[in-house]
Amino acid sequence: MSGSDPGRRKLVRGGTVLTLDRELGDFERADLLIEGDRIAAVGPGLEAGDAEVIDASRAIVLPGFVDTHRHTWQAQLRTIACDWTLGQYMTGLHSGLSGHFRPEDTYIGNLLGTVEALDSGITTLLDWSHNLATPEHADAAIAGLAESRARAVFAHGGGAPQWDVLPNPVPHPEDARRIRDQYFSSDDGLVTMAMALRGPEIATREVTVADYRLARDLSLRITIHIGNGEMAKEKPVAWLGESGLLADDVTYIHCNALADEELKLIADSGGTASISPDVELQMGHGWPATGRLIEIGIQPSISIDVCSSTGGHMFGAMRTLAGAQRGLDNGEAAARGEPLDHVPLSCRDVVEMATLGGARTVGLDDRIGSLTPGKQADVVLLSTESYGMYPVNNPYGAVVYNAHPGVVETILVGGEVVKRDGELVGVDRERIRRLAHESRDHVFAAARQVEATREARPGGAWMPPHF
Ligand SMILES: [Zn+2]
Repeated sequence: MSGSDPGRRKLVRGGTVLTLDRELGDFERADLLIEGDRIAAVGPGLEAGDAEVIDASRAIVLPGFVDTHRHTWQAQLRTIACDWTLGQYMTGLHSGLSGHFRPEDTYIGNLLGTVEALDSGITTLLDWSHNLATPEHADAAIAGLAESRARAVFAHGGGAPQWDVLPNPVPHPEDARRIRDQYFSSDDGLVTMAMALRGPEIATREVTVADYRLARDLSLRITIHIGNGEMAKEKPVAWLGESGLLADDVTYIHCNALADEELKLIADSGGTASISPDVELQMGHGWPATGRLIEIGIQPSISIDVCSSTGGHMFGAMRTLAGAQRGLDNGEAAARGEPLDHVPLSCRDVVEMATLGGARTVGLDDRIGSLTPGKQADVVLLSTESYGMYPVNNPYGAVVYNAHPGVVETILVGGEVVKRDGELVGVDRERIRRLAHESRDHVFAAARQVEATREARPGGAWMPPHF
């Protein structure tokens, strides 16, 4: 799906280049040479030759962001849950609206959600797809991802039967085998596959063992939610260890309520972590575990999570994550009576989590996450034209604190220009808009036919009961 013409060359010229590769370093002014789908060279004054030149003289150039966990199918329900608790989300959305999704709703949710992410500079997204009522829903989810032209990991989850009773005794759908076979016989495509499992806090222990076995049978990485507030259990990671299930192929999402010993077990096993700062703070998961994870040796990644209740771009997530951790650090320092002499979590740290850290978390760091020659050319240019973006005195600070989707000017995925002059290339905006509204209207109308969700409607006033 990428690199159709290996001879084609592009030169991104004269930008402030943040490679996120510590050996290469960063450049106040440099060029990026792309050959085919890969980065060929980074440095000042590269020879353009016959390459197509992309002017970056008023831009910050960095690797595309990696969102390591998003329930993309909810995109047409965006903002409906912005004022909901976790309990209201579970009744209103998870067991309420989700049951009315037809395959075409899953398709447009995934297409809109992935296009939204790509437009804001997220070139890779792990789609945590857990509303797969039928095999046709899974096919539709993959079709939406593939059409977007973003790089994506389709993380195959279950549907209502896998979630409606807790702890859940229904095994992961065997349809995962078909999906692996039919769409992902190679792991080299722009869209690859992983397994979105429920893990020991949501499924029964017996089912958790069976689910892990299925994933490893299929040679697929695993991603689970764990340690989130009200749903947390005693020492789930220790139990995974006792059951022989801890390994470096697992990503642990949230982790807020996990004790330090539990985090240590994850670190020792080589596991990775994903923090969804906005959702965790809104829904009572607990303080984001950013600092505790870093302390114990895990560089966490950043994720959007439920796009029904939080914004879909990395800039907002980076700001919330930085603000929460800085608040915690300052609070602890004040409690000790010793003000901080430096800020422990830097803006560079945060951007690294959102790029290279994300790539490691989804197992693609040999391919993406930094502007290292040989890697895939997934590149984002942030315009510094607008008043809030210049002078560029601290580029990482600008990315974290001043940038927003509106300054994402140009994007390449696998060397292909997918956004140019602020517009996604080859996307039928009106069709996506129409399908998204039709789907939204269908889901709400169907929900109003059910007693428990009789009040369901857009507008912001609908408040489902806490579970
Ligand atoms: Zn989630």
